[in-house]
Amino acid sequence: MPRPIEARIKLAALRHNYLLGRRHAARHNSAAKAWAVVKANAYGHGLLRAAAALGDVADGFALLDLDEAVRLREAGIRQPILLLEGFFEAADLSVCAAYQLTAVVHCLEQLEMLRLAPAPLCLPIYLKLNTGMNRLGLRAEQLPAVRRKLAASPAVGAVTLMTHFAEADGDGGERCIAWQLERFTAMISGWTDAERLPVSLANSAAILRYPQTAHDWVRPGIMLYGGSPFADQDAASLDLLPVMTLRSRILAVQEIGVGERVGYGGTFVARVPTRVGVVACGYADGYPRHAPGGTPILVAGRRTQTLGRVSMDMLACDLTELPESGVNSPVVLWGEGLPADEVATAAGTISYELFCALARRVPVVEG
Ligand SMILES: *Cc1c(COP(=O)(O)O)cnc(C)c1O
Repeated sequence: MPRPIEARIKLAALRHNYLLGRRHAARHNSAAKAWAVVKANAYGHGLLRAAAALGDVADGFALLDLDEAVRLREAGIRQPILLLEGFFEAADLSVCAAYQLTAVVHCLEQLEMLRLAPAPLCLPIYLKLNTGMNRLGLRAEQLPAVRRKLAASPAVGAVTLMTHFAEADGDGGERCIAWQLERFTAMISGWTDAERLPVSLANSAAILRYPQTAHDWVRPGIMLYGGSPFADQDAASLDLLPVMTLRSRILAVQEIGVGERVGYGGTFVARVPTRVGVVACGYADGYPRHAPGGTPILVAGRRTQTLGRVSMDMLACDLTELPESGVNSPVVLWGEGLPADEVATAAGTISYELFCALARRVPVVEG
């Protein structure tokens, strides 16, 4: 029998969440399309699995790696595929053309590669403007050079304008996005053709809270996987369904007396006689080692908490109040019944990181 841990991925929930995102965007623009953001192996859910689940509904797929884009095409995906960091060297351009990829162009160096590329490429590009995230994107003062290079680049096909919000998940309301929208508008004013170009701005947080940012294409990521992008609002209240449920079982039970400690470093000390459940899940499975004792966990459908430090292959939880639970009782680390966002918050991180960190050794079952 294999070790009893598994990640169950609910494909119907993924579809539900995608369609919800597109409906939100449609409140502002009924024709808005949505890239399913499937970077980082579909946030740990499996690239080809996610693509298969969304293959007949998604308007397009967005990711980072050229190789992953090629894998999607070879798996039969016909929709547009967007490379969120674009291409990395001139040789990538012929792959982009051969596989009909759309590339983000975020710097002058990429534009120069395009200018030198042979004309028949006709590569659709997403021109990324830096409106204050200060990660990727062209700055206002670079735009005259950008427009000159674009005009001199017959290899460039359709152009879409994009930017990325730094604080759409913030709790300050509209002003979390307003300042970047202002900069975006200012950057493209005076660029006469820009009014005719399609626009893509919104990540999950913006889609859910600021539908006025929807424009032509939105870019939902975390919401597809049922995570809330907000610290102050949970996924259920946003009508998002959990997609990944990380499940395991109790391997062993230890009945310990007052003063006994649990796990490495003995960080948990029993103040009352305690029934300790040992779960087959540790940081080598992707459970965060940072999760302190007291992190919520479900045993046989009932909520309890972890005890002491997370080990590589195991963690401990408190069964004192769950006398009906014991060896073999089913455990949910996160997912259905226990939102990943709650576990993430307890561990000082975000659900994005929990999902992406799911280890390869954890078997995945679709359900
Ligand atoms: C990852 C990413 C997204 C999706 O962000 P979420 O917060 O997961 O919705 C959208 N746009 C870009 C450019 C990204 O890199």
